[in-house]
Amino acid sequence: LVPTQARVERAAAPEVAIPAVVGADLTVPVLGGGSREYANLDHAASAPCLAAVRQAVDQLLPFYASVHRGAGYASQVCTAVYEQARQALRAFVGARRGDAVVVTRNTTDSLNLLARAVPSGTSVVLFDTEHHAALLPWRGPNVHRIATPAAVDAALAELDRALRACPVGPRLVVVTGASNVTGEVWPVARVAEVARRHGARVALDAAQLAPHRPIDMRELDVDYVALSGHKLYAPFGAGALVGRADWLQAANPYLAGGGATSQVTDLGDRLGVAWARVPERHEAGSPNVVGAHALAVAVDELGRNWAGVVHHERALTARLRAGLATVPGLTELSLFGPDHDRVGVVSFTVAGHDAGLLAAALSAEHGIGVRDGAFCAHVATTRLLRRAGAGEKRALRASLGLGTTAEHVDRLVAALRALVSTGP
Ligand code: PLP
Repeated sequence: LVPTQARVERAAAPEVAIPAVVGADLTVPVLGGGSREYANLDHAASAPCLAAVRQAVDQLLPFYASVHRGAGYASQVCTAVYEQARQALRAFVGARRGDAVVVTRNTTDSLNLLARAVPSGTSVVLFDTEHHAALLPWRGPNVHRIATPAAVDAALAELDRALRACPVGPRLVVVTGASNVTGEVWPVARVAEVARRHGARVALDAAQLAPHRPIDMRELDVDYVALSGHKLYAPFGAGALVGRADWLQAANPYLAGGGATSQVTDLGDRLGVAWARVPERHEAGSPNVVGAHALAVAVDELGRNWAGVVHHERALTARLRAGLATVPGLTELSLFGPDHDRVGVVSFTVAGHDAGLLAAALSAEHGIGVRDGAFCAHVATTRLLRRAGAGEKRALRASLGLGTTAEHVDRLVAALRALVSTGP
């Protein structure tokens, strides 16, 4: 067992309490009049807000004030809450002493910040099936994209080969924790082991993994973690980059402006600017205090409830996959094979049926929200559709989490069976 897997097994104890989400009783209009309880099977895009998060935000709003700059009581409260959010994030990902916690907008923002901060000449190695947020920010001649093989051992061997071929200098491996297309969990600790052999750092795109499994940077031996609040049951607008401070400290600020400076001096013909240290160095402008607080409360809640979260999702994922297997013509997409460990994200194609039309019918007729398309991972989706022998360019994705019930899963399966039986 890799270390993270061991923690999951420990977490999957029989206790099943899970945190409540907002909007569980939401109803949506359906064709023919009337309405149905909304079956949100699109958690991988954005997860519903936790009830505890809504309550915490509500309690903070009367204290709405700018952080770090105000002497007033409300500013002091907001500053304390904002700085505590860093501690919550640090604990959630098992950060090392000295790691920086930069509050960002989301995973995309975090990885772009890291891409700006890597020393010039850094070799960046990654698999080409990554989400665009991890695939696209890296520039320059030393970016090596590996065509993801269909087996883990082959992927690690390719990674080893690519790192061996890197020129002397800093190296960074970027890897996702769980695929947003297939939900498959990447063997992050093994990736890190290969990276270390070649003196490379590892950046983990935890956007999909963090809502579903515990992460420990020390156990996984990764240097950076990027995550998004809106996938972690907090509202949109706050995310984080956690990791080694040295590159971030040496880099110019991601954004220039107030808060990122320690001193600005009028030197006549120019300004003398002393930039702040990390994390403020990369947080110019008034920060998202409410978003950071919401994110902190969400990760605290998840951290306290891993046993229930993992148990709930495992059971529903198994139910979903078993149900989908009964839909005629349906093929599930997979990077590493159907038995590979995965979180509750399943993409599939149905022979002879357009994914967009199916998704529209699921929404309009059954009150079910899924996603269709290529999921901001065009290379991955296109390759997996081709590998599955599908003629379509788009897939359907059902993804679950704390807002999902067995009825939602069963409704999806029944609706697909009914839609497929009526022909394309
Ligand atoms: N990485 C993965 C694996 C994702 O699934 C996503 C979003 O779907 C992202 C990165 C980007 O997240 P965000 O849009 O919150 O920046």
